[in-house]
Amino acid sequence: MGEIWIKEAERLGDGSIGGAMDSPSSPPRVVWHTTESGAGSPAFNAVGKYLSNAASEPHILYDPTTDRLGQYGPLNQSARALRNDGATRTNRTGKVCIQIEVLGRAASPWTSGWKPGPNFRALMRAIRSWGVPDAWPAGSCAPGASRNRTTWATKGGHYGHCHVPGNDHWDPGNIDRSAILKAAPTSKPPTGSGSPNSSTTYTVKGGDTLSGIGAKTGVKWQTIASLNGIKAPYTITVGQVLKLKTPSSTPKPSTSTVDLSNVVTAARRDPGLKQGGTTHPADVRVVEAALKAEGLLSATYASDGSFGSTTVAAYRKWQQRCGYTGSAADGIPGRESLEKLGAKRGFKVKA
Ligand SMILES: [Zn+2]
Repeated sequence: MGEIWIKEAERLGDGSIGGAMDSPSSPPRVVWHTTESGAGSPAFNAVGKYLSNAASEPHILYDPTTDRLGQYGPLNQSARALRNDGATRTNRTGKVCIQIEVLGRAASPWTSGWKPGPNFRALMRAIRSWGVPDAWPAGSCAPGASRNRTTWATKGGHYGHCHVPGNDHWDPGNIDRSAILKAAPTSKPPTGSGSPNSSTTYTVKGGDTLSGIGAKTGVKWQTIASLNGIKAPYTITVGQVLKLKTPSSTPKPSTSTVDLSNVVTAARRDPGLKQGGTTHPADVRVVEAALKAEGLLSATYASDGSFGSTTVAAYRKWQQRCGYTGSAADGIPGRESLEKLGAKRGFKVKA
């Protein structure tokens, strides 16, 4: 269960704006809007009332110029800033569908010149608490954004109103999507199986079970069993030290530096090289280890130092995880996605 009311937010309206979600087993998501108004406190007060009177409340009203944060309704219920897509009630899609109206206009993206304040970080904390992935599944919010029904139905993450099927509004405009994700209080997004565990061992305590340890550490219990040679009936003893990772899956120390141009050269050339041929293997190995740590590259390829088609495919998945789509997710590293991978997995990208 995530945060229902954000303690840093002021309450707006009577607190009752929606009801239960229609598809609570679908992935959690966020929808960003702009109010198409000015910002500042008079606008916050006026638009705040207007949205209540019009019965089109989002969950959240945010002023990027003052960091003022208001909340109309509980995050675990629906809001009403979206139109239905035929019979599909888009306001009620997902485990949560947290809607945020930002004071500003789509034509001049509000993220330009904006610095996230403590209230915005509190908002991101609440979003994270529902397991919303750090991703933009439908990609850019620039004019011409895609309103793909399958993406909306099946993928969790951040959307703009411009991405929601059955709707015709184009807000929030071409905002800096990564600036929003970067404002989250930690760099570790929650994953389906719990947050990634940073320690490499676990000492068994009284009452522990293998599956309980799996849930606590975010490592599959089957993995723990096989790493430690534990077989059915899976007996463990108090005080036993269990390995959680193989040594090779430990992220590289933060002193590793990757040269973007080397990696790009490797990714472009390797598919054409003779089998076993490599270019810039030292840089490539660091990226491969990070992709393996992300679960995107199997151990077989994770340290061969060759940026071949398997590594390109794995990197494409990483780009998609970062919110890139289409030709922007081509498997050839770009600075932004590589820096993001490095920040998460302990390497730096050479300036
Ligand atoms: Zn909107």
